[in-house]
Amino acid sequence: MEQVRTIETETTIGKDNSIGYVETKYYTLEEDLKLETGAILKNPTIAYETYGKLNDLKSNVILVCHALTGNAHAAGWHEGDKKPGWWDIMIGPGKPLDTNKYFIICSNVLGSCHGSTGPSDINPDTNKEYALDFPIITISDMVNGQKKLLDHLNLHNLFCVIGGSMGGMQVIQWAISYPNMIRNAIFIASAAYSTTQQIAFDEVQRRAIIEDSDWNHGNYYHTGKYPDKGLSLARMIAHITYLSNDSMLQKFGRRLQDKDKFSYSFDVEFQVESYLKHQGYTFTQKFDANSYLYLTKALDYFDLRKNESLIEGLSSINCRMLVVSISSDWLYTDLRHEELVDALRANDVNVSYTKLNAEQGHDSFLIENGQLNYIIRNFLYEIRVKDILTRSYTKLHDFESIKDAAELMLNNNITHIPIVDQNDKIMGIVTAWDLSKAIAMNKHNIDEIMTKNVLTCYESDTLFDVAKTFKNHKISGLPVIDEDNHVIGVVTTADVSSLMGSDDF
Ligand code: SAM
Repeated sequence: MEQVRTIETETTIGKDNSIGYVETKYYTLEEDLKLETGAILKNPTIAYETYGKLNDLKSNVILVCHALTGNAHAAGWHEGDKKPGWWDIMIGPGKPLDTNKYFIICSNVLGSCHGSTGPSDINPDTNKEYALDFPIITISDMVNGQKKLLDHLNLHNLFCVIGGSMGGMQVIQWAISYPNMIRNAIFIASAAYSTTQQIAFDEVQRRAIIEDSDWNHGNYYHTGKYPDKGLSLARMIAHITYLSNDSMLQKFGRRLQDKDKFSYSFDVEFQVESYLKHQGYTFTQKFDANSYLYLTKALDYFDLRKNESLIEGLSSINCRMLVVSISSDWLYTDLRHEELVDALRANDVNVSYTKLNAEQGHDSFLIENGQLNYIIRNFLYEIRVKDILTRSYTKLHDFESIKDAAELMLNNNITHIPIVDQNDKIMGIVTAWDLSKAIAMNKHNIDEIMTKNVLTCYESDTLFDVAKTFKNHKISGLPVIDEDNHVIGVVTTADVSSLMGSDDF
């Protein structure tokens, strides 16, 4: 029996172009985490997974943020899994979040019950489960927890942060909290603040749990009774909001469950009832009721507006953004996304907006892999020089010596130095190749060996343009200049190749 299961799993891994087996890792903070409310979470643990390989420049990191009931297992397979991680359609070799190019991290949010510290974990002060002693967690606290994980991994720049639903809230919070760390952000089917209707839905779900007598004020962990009735009801309500009317009609219509005429009773009559009941039940087998209370509260508190202005609330964002809405999503509608895009544009943020035509409602982002695949690929492919440019670079003047150039290259581990005049305007370039020429020809001044007919690029050029120049001229570095010919940086093949496949060169 065991043998058969192994064979089945391996076949599926091959078919799906999956990254194969992965494992969840855990990082426990050596310090406490101060939360937005001022409360302290003692030495929280963060569960995370990583896929792909970090490049030498550490410039290919993508952080994936999960939705309300998600977890760190975004892709690949755990030993014994019947299905892969929750976004395996997006993450893997050759997929939009291509593990051949990017180093991908996904961590479980604080307050959850899938490995990161949450209310079902032991409170070090009491040696009992936290239950309601767990502090309120906000979206910003989740992001700060992820930041601690990145610090621990010694990662200080994110090429991209991406997520849908509650994951989208973390994305935009990241762009606000750590604007200098992020180059690109992809926000899918989400919102910059929770509306009255969303808060109302969340409260009805919480009530379902709280009113279940087995909830026992949150202290159910050792009673042998769990608030499964309340939790499954909460999930049934939520599930309706994740589906569109059309998709429900298509999937179930008014068809009856295992019968061909009404029984005129309160038993399960329609297929949709049976489906929701099943969804509710399976959810109780994998999610903690108290975590559900805390995480829905985090959604409710989320509001990025400042002084009632979204424009003001988003003013610190300076990364490139992609906003994606789903045509049939009535929980996070197109209008909400358009409002966000308008506020981003009012802040001069470089933002693209796409409406995904999908019938399945809010959950489409987890299952749709045609258009979303195309949209994400295009966005990541359309990266421009300014999206990867680091402002620290080294330059020299033409009157300096070849020895200066050699020392600079050696000390800074670089191979290309732009040569500038007194006003920082580009005059030429000296590379490691030119230094060897200087030794062979016994030259001493930069002026004698630099290439004066220097090729350059602009911040607005795409990486695709830059890669073409490298290829056509057989060079591996380009000074980046502004409209007045001032040098503002250097891009090299190492910067570009890590973010593009070998086919792109
Ligand atoms: N991969 C090497 C490189 O980029 O330096 C070798 C290419 S080529 C044989 C070496 C010559 O190309 C050197 O003389 C160098 O100054 C020149 N070169 C490098 N980058 C350049 C650029 N952006 N514009 C013009 N010439 C450049």
